[in-house]
Amino acid sequence: MKYIRYEEKDKIEKYGVLEGELIREIEWDLFGDYMPTDITNDINDVKILPPCTPTKIVCVGLNYRDHAEEMNSKVPEDPRIFIKPNTAIIGHEDTIIYPDHMSSRVDYEGELAVVMGSRAKGVNVDEALDYVFGYTCLNDITARDLTAKDLQYTRGKGFDTFAPFGPFIETDLDASNLHIATYLNGEIKQSSNTSMLIFNVPKLVSFISNVMTLLPGDIISTGTPSGIGPMRKGDTIEVHIEGIGILRNYIG
Ligand code: MG
Repeated sequence: MKYIRYEEKDKIEKYGVLEGELIREIEWDLFGDYMPTDITNDINDVKILPPCTPTKIVCVGLNYRDHAEEMNSKVPEDPRIFIKPNTAIIGHEDTIIYPDHMSSRVDYEGELAVVMGSRAKGVNVDEALDYVFGYTCLNDITARDLTAKDLQYTRGKGFDTFAPFGPFIETDLDASNLHIATYLNGEIKQSSNTSMLIFNVPKLVSFISNVMTLLPGDIISTGTPSGIGPMRKGDTIEVHIEGIGILRNYIG
């Protein structure tokens, strides 16, 4: 099932499930059961919102071997985690604001994102997927000059608009073998498969839930493959993940 959050001209946020190009509005006890309604909308007639409202976005650095190599970094022994603030969230087709008052190098990082479905604290690897609701696309926008200068990630990855994700949450998906690609102005820049993750989804959920409690709607972004690079104002950036869809954003 593909879950979508959206608004019509009335600006009231709604949840729905996708039936082809059609959105069926649902009454939803978030991450619990939903009731379909008789109300439908064409997907082209609504504004798609970020598909959930996480309390935190936990990102994983250096989780593809080829990306660790291009960064001249060792493969970490444990998942290297950091947090993006939820104020950085934007949705599909929204604009990433280039923070040119501080940075002159802003990169895309296409990533598979895990959406948590229930409260997870100290869970084991073999039960970890029971706590996962579904998957979406995330672009871990990074001011590369600032992460290098600061030696930590809060500023360089935390600007407003630096966490685009969406457009849907796919719940019926085995995330262990999905093609992932990033296109800048239509040109392919990153191409890999989630089977290449150093720490896979169950390991990440377990590891992170042994550090901090994960709440329904929280996001784990699983890291980016090689091929990262800079963007400029006026660019269009897309993250494509097999079985989920395309997350498209503009740089302004
Ligand atoms: Mg990243």
